[in-house]
Amino acid sequence: MDNPGKVAKKTAPAFSRTTKSAQYDAGGKQVVCLHCGAAMFTEGAVSASAVGMVGLFHVLDMASTLVCTHCGYVQWFLKRPQRR
Ligand SMILES: [Zn+2]
Repeated sequence: MDNPGKVAKKTAPAFSRTTKSAQYDAGGKQVVCLHCGAAMFTEGAVSASAVGMVGLFHVLDMASTLVCTHCGYVQWFLKRPQRR
């Protein structure tokens, strides 16, 4: 079982990814794939400094990614999406 109360920021490699797929909300709205419309994603995290994109992510060092399990399209979020 996951521990939903723990959203600790941790030092991560340049790109990390979970293997579990789930549905997510971002900005109070369910995330759907922009390419195929599917709603199941695997979540990942990218360290901006580790991939040389610090200027792009000037607010946070870490960005979250959601990878569509159906087509593989990657969506980026600077605020971590909430798992449903
Ligand atoms: Zn898709």
